[in-house]
Amino acid sequence: MEENRETILEDKVKEYLLSTNKTIDEAILEEGTAVFKERTRKQFMEDRAIKKGSFYASSAGKCPRQNWYKFRGYPEERFDRYETRLKFWFGDLVEVGVAMLLKLAVGDDFKTDDISCKRTYDYGDGIQRNIIIDGLYKNEAVCECKSMNDRQYAKFVSNGMDNEGGYLTQINIYMDAWGLDKTILFGVNKDKSKFHEQIIKKDMKYIVEARERFKIVLGEDLPSRAHAVKLGFVKMFEGEPKGWLSIEDPLPWKSKFTFIKHSRLSWQCEYCGHLVECWKDEFKQKFVDDKPMMLKEEIGDDNDKKEA
Ligand code: SF4
Repeated sequence: MEENRETILEDKVKEYLLSTNKTIDEAILEEGTAVFKERTRKQFMEDRAIKKGSFYASSAGKCPRQNWYKFRGYPEERFDRYETRLKFWFGDLVEVGVAMLLKLAVGDDFKTDDISCKRTYDYGDGIQRNIIIDGLYKNEAVCECKSMNDRQYAKFVSNGMDNEGGYLTQINIYMDAWGLDKTILFGVNKDKSKFHEQIIKKDMKYIVEARERFKIVLGEDLPSRAHAVKLGFVKMFEGEPKGWLSIEDPLPWKSKFTFIKHSRLSWQCEYCGHLVECWKDEFKQKFVDDKPMMLKEEIGDDNDKKEA
C-alpha cells in the first residue's frame, strides 16, 4: 500500500510509546484487567457453548453450510490442538493490550465502554442479536484490532485486509449497526511487534451478501459447501509422512521422498467445527509432520503414486 495512506491513530500510539512523563491510569488498568479475565475464562476455563439460533457477525462472511450447522445447534467436532488454544489466547492478549494502549494514547476520543461498543443487529429475521466492537473513535469510526502472524501482516501491509476469512463482512456489519461509514483497522504483528493502520470504508455489497447468506442459513435445505478440496501429495520419508505438496508445486526431481496422492481440505474447512459432519467418512484426520490434516488418499492405478 502507498505510504501516503490516511491514518488516524497510528502516529498517536507511536508518540505515546516514546513519550516521557507517563502517568498511571487506574481506570484503564481495571477495565483492561476485567477484559483479560473474561478472555482467559473463555479460552481456558469454559467449553465452547453450542447455542441454537446463533449467528455472529464474525461468521457472517463464512461458509453458509457451516453457519447452517451452527444455527441448528450441531455439536462442534474440531481437531483441537493445545497449540490452537494458546494461539487464540495470545491473540486475545495482544488485542486487549492494544485496546488499552489506544485508550492511553488517544484519550477520551477512544471509547471501549459497553454503552459505546455494544449494539443489537437484525440480519433480516426480526431477531435482535448482540454485537460488540473493540472500540469507537469520536462517534466517527468503528475501531477494530486484529493480531496477525508475520505472513498475514506482510500481506495486510502490502494489499490491505481481504475477505478470505470473512473479516470485511464482519466490519461492514459493525459499520451498518453503528450507522458509520468507516472502520479504523489496527493490525498488529505479534511475531515482530509492529502495527499498521488501515482505514476501511463501508461497502454495502458485504451487507447485502451477508443478508443473502443468512437467508440460506434459515432455509431447510443443507447448503452446498463453500470450499473445494485441494489436490496434492503427502511426502513420505522412511515410511513417515513429512509434509504436504500441492498439485501446483513442482515435484522435486530425484528427491529422497516418495509422494502419495491425496486430497486435502481447504484451511477454512480444517478450522471448521463441523468438518466431520460435513465430510462424513470421506476425509480422515492424519498427522503429517505432527500437524493434523484432513486427507483422503486417492486410490487408483500406479500413476497415483509418484516416486521422484
Ligand atoms: S467443512 Fe468446509 S464446506 Fe463444510 S461446513 Fe465447514 S467450512 Fe463449510
